[in-house]
Amino acid sequence: MLRLLALPALLILIGLSSAAEKPNIVVIYADDLGYGDLSCYGHPTIHTPHLDRMAAEGVRFTEFYSAAEVCTPSRAALLTGRYPVRSGMASSKRRVLFPESKGGLPPSEITLATALHGAGYATAAVGKWHLGHLSPHLPTDHGFDSYFGIPYSNDMDRRAELGPRGRAAFLEPKSEYWNVPLMRDKEILERAPDQTQLTRRYTDEAVKFIRSHREGPFFLYLAHSMPHVPLFRSKAFEGISRRGLYGDVVQEVDASVGRVLDTLKELGLQQRTLVVFSSDNGPWLIFDQQGGSAGLLRDGKGSTWEGGMRVPGIFWWPDTIPAGQICRDWASTMDIFATGLAIAGVPLPADRTIDGQDIRPLLTGGGSVPREGFFYYRGTDLFAARTGPWKAHWKTQTGYGQKAPDDHQPPLLFQLDVDPGESWSQSETHAAEVSAIDAAVARHRATLKPVENQLEK
Ligand code: MG
Repeated sequence: MLRLLALPALLILIGLSSAAEKPNIVVIYADDLGYGDLSCYGHPTIHTPHLDRMAAEGVRFTEFYSAAEVCTPSRAALLTGRYPVRSGMASSKRRVLFPESKGGLPPSEITLATALHGAGYATAAVGKWHLGHLSPHLPTDHGFDSYFGIPYSNDMDRRAELGPRGRAAFLEPKSEYWNVPLMRDKEILERAPDQTQLTRRYTDEAVKFIRSHREGPFFLYLAHSMPHVPLFRSKAFEGISRRGLYGDVVQEVDASVGRVLDTLKELGLQQRTLVVFSSDNGPWLIFDQQGGSAGLLRDGKGSTWEGGMRVPGIFWWPDTIPAGQICRDWASTMDIFATGLAIAGVPLPADRTIDGQDIRPLLTGGGSVPREGFFYYRGTDLFAARTGPWKAHWKTQTGYGQKAPDDHQPPLLFQLDVDPGESWSQSETHAAEVSAIDAAVARHRATLKPVENQLEK
């Protein structure tokens, strides 16, 4: 494998790159996009040629996880490389931050932006934040030089006096129904911005940032508000998808990815830039046609079934990541932190547990990453865990609409390679696999420390 790589790529991989050659990093994050919503993940009627091309030129993961099943904790995990229970950014009572919330990502957390900024990177966050909309929790408090976007979900600050009640407002959405702020850095620019323009405006900001920092190195975090309900797309995307409004919205996000990749190519930065695409959690299934699809996986957003947490994961870095790979080892959004620091030549923080791992061996196709296991939390409760292909559930609960979890003793046990849809439990015949998962959970729990809950403030 190594002899196939160009020399600069080889030097980057083994950490000898000079400061001037530090690679740029771009993370593009969709909101509530399901595992089955892209054509390169098998969707029959949503057409995503830009993400398909990104996958064809890079590596596409079949078992890529968000570290949470809803927005706020998954974003905390992505930016810190840690399970959100470690930062106080998970709660079983208040599952995400709301406009009246006082808490947010604690200043003591080290984000990918903070770490890269310290290594000389220009940093920008564009789009949805959802890690606290008050200082000291805003992007510019957490290592980003600039911020432009809505600091929480686009369905918050509902103006109940406008439009139809309840779900009906989502089925015929108008921007004015949601009085969300659009911010630049720490200032509110607009209230109830025209949400049909969000994807385009975020992309304009992202492209502008790349152009003005072409000398590098830079870190761009582009977190789309879409396709989280209420769904909006600009005029040019109206009716272009056979999948209806949801498909139109995903196709506009796809076109945004195309603009970012094209800009990098136009500026000759493609060999110096790692681009990652993923989603914060599975599809919001209770919204029927307004929600996405987890493909063959079970359940969706809000649940610890695979459909809630397994998401698209695509990595692109021409010449360093060989084109056209499919990686079938599991990985997670937490690995982006550890991998980003590694390619920037920044050591991992030594004073805390980092759950993500450097996955360059998977990206280059040449190796594997030793893993303890993956732990599926719903809020602060550990519902399930996997080691290798085996996943045990002690509790199960559908994403929305089930009041209390079902308890399982012995746990349900699924072999995800054989049964990715988690249809038939094998715990009765595989006690040894259950014991191995129990042991991994015990080791994981021993690393947890009590922290102040940020979502319940
Ligand atoms: Mg989400």
